[in-house]
Amino acid sequence: MSLPSILDPNGQALSAWLDQRGERPYRAAQIRRWLFHRRAGSFDEMTDLPQALRAPLAADFSLWTLKTAHHSVAPDGAEKLLVELRDGQRIECVLLRDGHRRTICISSQVGCAMGCVFCASGLDGVIRNLASTEIIEQMLLLARLLPPHERLSHIVVMGMGEPLANLDHLLPALNAATSPDGLGIGHRRITISTVGLPPAMNRLAELDARYPLAVSLHAPNDELRNRLVPVNKNTGLSAILAAADHYFEVSGRRLTFEYVLLGQLNDQPEHASELAALLRGRLALVNLIPYNPVAGLPYQTPSRNAVRRFVDILETAGLNVQVRERKGDEIDAACGQLRRRRSPGLESLVTLASATPPDPAKAAETN
Ligand code: SAH
Repeated sequence: MSLPSILDPNGQALSAWLDQRGERPYRAAQIRRWLFHRRAGSFDEMTDLPQALRAPLAADFSLWTLKTAHHSVAPDGAEKLLVELRDGQRIECVLLRDGHRRTICISSQVGCAMGCVFCASGLDGVIRNLASTEIIEQMLLLARLLPPHERLSHIVVMGMGEPLANLDHLLPALNAATSPDGLGIGHRRITISTVGLPPAMNRLAELDARYPLAVSLHAPNDELRNRLVPVNKNTGLSAILAAADHYFEVSGRRLTFEYVLLGQLNDQPEHASELAALLRGRLALVNLIPYNPVAGLPYQTPSRNAVRRFVDILETAGLNVQVRERKGDEIDAACGQLRRRRSPGLESLVTLASATPPDPAKAAETN
């Protein structure tokens, strides 16, 4: 049987354990400080805990259940980890450096059930939800890549998976990210990206509307969206926009709409005009993401001209627009790409091509 994780956000196992040994409750906070502030890599490093406590802690709790299977560093400072979970499954997470920002992009599931036709993460469907501890461990593994005087400043939940399909495990993990005795990152610096699941968006609005939400649209009408984002057949754009508007009302956070630009497919002027009409009247940011080629898939990166035209039309219609910069190109930073490239038997699907790591944190902060 595997040991309970010391990172369990619920913390009851540790409190009970300390209590049973006659230890003072403040030890729990002391251990958390070691994990989240001082980024201890082992119980042994927790030098202000008595040795008589460190050894039994290590015997009764696990600290790392994730193993780094591959670590790549891009010339622009982006670092990507391919991480192996205890059951041998693999996920990806990324650290991005941009000025003073230290943004991490984390995964919420192994694989993805949404089936967006251009995305590498969902090509094999979803395998399972990540546990809260596995989400927290990603944060800590990435934080440990920073020098001691630097802190993580932003989180985007835009790695592999659909975060709103795993809210029960995601929210406790994000609590550890925001809590002052956790990573202490402000809620407004944590963006959750969703394919657009109205009931789950409404649930998030109820449970905790402090996080900026990014909704992946990718098409301005249901006919096209049904083709690009198959789950749309069960939802439809109007229900998604209604849920987004509701989230905006409850949260007061400006919404972000993501739109992957696929050459010739959804990047034409008529798409831009239709999108502008669809979003009219909303306090929203449109985050345009030029498609990153995924080997084996037939889609194309949009031309520079197409991107410029698209931006112009949206801006003329009064929308705020941001084109996501490409970072970490050399390291397959787009979600799902590295995992596929490193999986035996999948090489044929692989390209060393590009990647777009998410940077909507920028958008989140201009709120
Ligand atoms: N399930 C969430 C998180 C997905 S990843 C969602 O759908 O929002 C974050 C963004 O990257 C999504 O908008 C997703 O559609 C987009 N994306 C996925 N694959 C991509 C690719 N190859 N090129 C560009 N953007 C991609």
